[in-house]
Amino acid sequence: MTASNQSVNQRLWSPLVRELVPYVPGEQPKLSNLTKLNTNESPFPPSPRVREAIIAALGNDGDALRLYPDPDASVLKQTIAKYHGLETNQIFLGNGSDEVLAHVFMAFFKQEKPLLYPDITYSFYPVYSQLYEVNTVQIPLDDHFQININDYNIPNGGIILANPNAPTGVLLGLDQIEQLLTNHPDSVVVIDEAYIDFGGVSAISLVSQFDNLLVCQTVSKSRALAGLRIGMVFAQAHLIEALERVKNSFNSYPLDRLAIVGGVASFEDEAYFQSTCQTLIGLREVLVGELSDLGFETLPSTANFIFARHPQHQAVELAKGLREDGIIVRHFVKPRISEFLRITIGTAEQNQALVKRLKVMLG
Ligand SMILES: *Cc1c(COP(=O)(O)O)cnc(C)c1O
Repeated sequence: MTASNQSVNQRLWSPLVRELVPYVPGEQPKLSNLTKLNTNESPFPPSPRVREAIIAALGNDGDALRLYPDPDASVLKQTIAKYHGLETNQIFLGNGSDEVLAHVFMAFFKQEKPLLYPDITYSFYPVYSQLYEVNTVQIPLDDHFQININDYNIPNGGIILANPNAPTGVLLGLDQIEQLLTNHPDSVVVIDEAYIDFGGVSAISLVSQFDNLLVCQTVSKSRALAGLRIGMVFAQAHLIEALERVKNSFNSYPLDRLAIVGGVASFEDEAYFQSTCQTLIGLREVLVGELSDLGFETLPSTANFIFARHPQHQAVELAKGLREDGIIVRHFVKPRISEFLRITIGTAEQNQALVKRLKVMLG
């Protein structure tokens, strides 16, 4: 708790809210001349078709905005269903995958037995656990920051994993996920695939086989649409139905008109999507090489970021030095990972600016 927090008058707050420790998103600086390698946004624009679709949907006078959007976002659901070869009742959509995840916690994890997730993972999981009063057990990653699925063989009321994991970027193989689903037939197992398009294989292919699997994805990273707020869930219809119940007890219109048409346009431009993902993977491999030439140790990344530490230099100092040059990276003050920097892959120019500055700092 910061001093400013304590000075706020909390007299009328609920006891739960008084204890809440909210998620802290990466900085969104107001200055535009900064090199933003801190929140895993895409360095590329979205498909140009997204812009066209949104402008067309606005109409001449913006009259379309007078009306509520389709509460089911059916057009987008159909487009995504076709894209993944699923039925529309196997898809749930929400206002960013953060919102979708909140509904997942409410729908499945609020129960006696504890929810399991790694000690190092997406920091929204503990926040939702607190908000919805979900019991949790954190399972430590091994010394190589890998998930060992055998560590999860304890009584539980659900499991959630980011795959690839955040902020490590380390991928768990599909065979391991399949084993995990088999080991826990009475638990919902959520695989949060925010970064799966950067070289991983999605667990969506397992949906028809496992009635306890729930896959979560977002358009925010690989589709360069963080500003549009679209999150997706893929699962068998009985799990989707539970999410629809929660959603319809919370907000009937999580996706606005512009998000619906923009999302459709993105999924209809497969060539652009594939080429930007491939370009990003190429840039990642180049940057990994350059960082290791500078003496950094990097975890094997299948994401659009690199988790790296330097044996001779403190992460906090490196982050500070980069910032003085207008380059922002993410540093987590947390046990086990405080010596790491999480560096989002930028454009070739941005990555070069980063490497150049690091070279100067490391002497
Ligand atoms: C970015 C991210 C999300 C949130 O995505 P939004 O759709 O932008 O809300 C969820 N999970 C993980 C692991 C992420 O990194």
